[in-house]
Amino acid sequence: MTAGIGSDLERAAAHLRAGELVAIPTETVYGLAANALDADASLRIFEAKERPAFDPLIVHVRSRAQALELCETPSAEALALMDAFWPGPLTLVLTKRAAIPDMVTSGLDTVALRQPAHPLTAELLARLSFPLAAPSANLFGRTSPTTAQHVAEQLGDRIAYILDGGTCAVGVESTILGWEERRLVLYRPGGTPLEAIERIFGHVGAAQRRVLPAAPGMLAAHYAPRTPLELRELGELDARLAGLAGRRVAVLAFDRARPAHACRVLSARGDPAEAAHRLFSSLRELDASGADLILAEPVPEVGLGRAINDRLRRAAAARSGQA
Ligand code: AMP
Ligand code: MG
Repeated sequence: MTAGIGSDLERAAAHLRAGELVAIPTETVYGLAANALDADASLRIFEAKERPAFDPLIVHVRSRAQALELCETPSAEALALMDAFWPGPLTLVLTKRAAIPDMVTSGLDTVALRQPAHPLTAELLARLSFPLAAPSANLFGRTSPTTAQHVAEQLGDRIAYILDGGTCAVGVESTILGWEERRLVLYRPGGTPLEAIERIFGHVGAAQRRVLPAAPGMLAAHYAPRTPLELRELGELDARLAGLAGRRVAVLAFDRARPAHACRVLSARGDPAEAAHRLFSSLRELDASGADLILAEPVPEVGLGRAINDRLRRAAAARSGQA
């Protein structure tokens, strides 16, 4: 089976109603979607991605009203976050209702909910009577897809259809927030800048509780290209590059090109949002360049820079096997 690619919403909806998998465009990255109320359909997501069952899925809703059918009555703060940032790249972890199968939440009593902003997927959700469970549409642990072609390369023979919505505008996954002792905490930096949240809601703490029953550090290694990736602190990159003279080194630079086997500049004007938009496709291109090593530098830790650095650290950890 090779997945069709196109923008046929009715075809996408029909596959999803039949319990099949469809890749969907979102403003963050492409998602691998199935009916979130159907445990068997959701199981297929884990199988296609080779994703371990302990890593819960994000459930995508068409509206705040649909979200409220899936979770226990949210706090005023949670409702205000939905008002402020939905539709958009913000996921909220809330107490789940029984309608959501344990398969989707990996047995947790919470569910991660988000209303995506991509117009095609908004229209798809509006046609469906159920929400969509959807992690990123890549093989587990690998680079996230930001075009329909990226999805086809990794999953094209495992899914029914790829809904093509062009290149993802934001380019990194959603910001995930939850609550610990009723205090707002950050589970994952992502497409909604922390500064924008803190401007309205005050300080957001670091999550203390381990969400996943995984072996410690297991998920530290993620988002990885096949080529080993090394992350060098600002300023160190050039010295390291000089030390590797003669080797085929590819460079993932923030705002300034380097002479190398291959080089991608994430944002010549130094804009973290532009850098996020280009991050995963640049990684894929460098991965395909035939280099022995990808050297990357962190970007300024502001706005979407936080999410970029988080993804780069995990991609580097995958290489060294460190947690
Ligand atoms: P993704 O792979 O981008 O779809 O993101 C899924 C991630 O969302 C998981 O790896 C978790 O980190 C997070 N997540 C999903 N459900 C929950 C939950 N119930 N509680 C906390 N984090 C969750
Ligand atoms: Mg993912």
